[in-house]
Amino acid sequence: MSVATIVSQSTPSGFSAIAVIRLSGPKAIEIAQKLSKNNKPFKHRTAQIRKIFSEKSLIDKAVFTAFLSPESYTGEDVVEVSCHGNIHICETTINEIVKLGARIAEPGEYTRRAFVNGKLNLVQAESIVQLINAKSVEAVKHQTRNIDGGITDKIKELKESLISILAYMEYELDVSEEVFLDPKTLKKVKKTVKDNLKTAKSMCNTFDQGGALSYGVKVAFVGKPNVGKSTLVNKILGIEKSIISNVPGTTRDTISTETTIGGIPTTLVDTAGIHLSENEIEKEGIKRSFKEIKSADLVVLLFCDGVEVVDINEDIEKIFVYNKIDLQPYTGEDRKVVPISASTGQGITSLVKQIRKRLGLLKANAAEPLITTIRQKSAMEKVSTSLSKTLKLLGENVEEIELPAQEVRNAINNIDLFTGKTTTNDVLDQVFSTFCVGK
Ligand code: GDP
Repeated sequence: MSVATIVSQSTPSGFSAIAVIRLSGPKAIEIAQKLSKNNKPFKHRTAQIRKIFSEKSLIDKAVFTAFLSPESYTGEDVVEVSCHGNIHICETTINEIVKLGARIAEPGEYTRRAFVNGKLNLVQAESIVQLINAKSVEAVKHQTRNIDGGITDKIKELKESLISILAYMEYELDVSEEVFLDPKTLKKVKKTVKDNLKTAKSMCNTFDQGGALSYGVKVAFVGKPNVGKSTLVNKILGIEKSIISNVPGTTRDTISTETTIGGIPTTLVDTAGIHLSENEIEKEGIKRSFKEIKSADLVVLLFCDGVEVVDINEDIEKIFVYNKIDLQPYTGEDRKVVPISASTGQGITSLVKQIRKRLGLLKANAAEPLITTIRQKSAMEKVSTSLSKTLKLLGENVEEIELPAQEVRNAINNIDLFTGKTTTNDVLDQVFSTFCVGK
């Protein structure tokens, strides 16, 4: 089956100085020549000014840049048409390109082709979608690092090391037809497996930070009316968003605000004060508060002098915060309680540090490549499991190597799952469906 040539707008639809329409596939060059009614050849990575025609009418003058296969984003012939950013120009141009033999690209189809053509692995493809959707500079930096190698380089080292010990084992099994390893080799194999297990586990642990960078975290502020939830959220945000009032129950609904804490995209949810209420609107607000609490990564439970803490029996990370120390210092015994004054700002820096710590966001070294998707984490957990089993088998059966060798093979297969070398179409569909059209 021949590969279709695909087209779509790579820039957002609307009115702008320029818009980019991208064509990729075996007919990209021919279609671009017909679109511009100009049969001159295209040179690799060279921009040319050409006209765009729809049937016989001139539609626009645009910059056509060709990237010849295999040195293009997708690995196929690609032509990028940078025309004026007008929706009618773009629509007419795309319609004309379709008439000339292309079809509209599906979401993520360019990157999927880049993956299929070996231009990037699945981790790099995932990093591209996360880079486009990144909500903080730190997230941008990490994804860029992963596209450029990052976690891929680390995983390559892991795989090479496992292949080298598998070679020892297979040599014994196939060539010398021995089922035992000599003590010296066994010691070496065990050490390598142990080291790699440590690496795999520490890579899994980077997901706390990496997952937070890509998916963001949610922190809910919970407490009785008037304990200072809105004041605290506003203090953290440094902007006034919630209505601050000393009338209980003003924040009747939950208010979510996106910010970054230590570079991590964070949604701060100011919940409605939790108390018994007969008021229907307040009751609805309180119901929503509980919904937010359930989906939060961390709950900050506020109380102050004379107002007790709301007891939530959810299995979620919690921080107990005593507010209004400017009025009455905290005299309780619980050392885990963070005393603050939301109005004066006293104690807020250490509270924010606590929040980061409790979300596991202080652990990672900033330069360390991170695992940033659930798919990557689950593949890396499988690598870890196979290596734990290998170590156990090597310990149990002393020198026998048939079964541990099989587990090392499993670990290598799971590494291939991680990078997408062996991946089912379902997984690929899932990964690429998260892309926007045009990428
Ligand atoms: P919420 O109902 O829990 O969201 O409470 P608010 O943030 O609306 O605060 C209720 C009242 O307490 C307001 O008058 C705030 O100015 C006041 N308040 C909040 N935090 C502090 C604080 O640290 N010290 C003092 N003195 N007043 C505070």
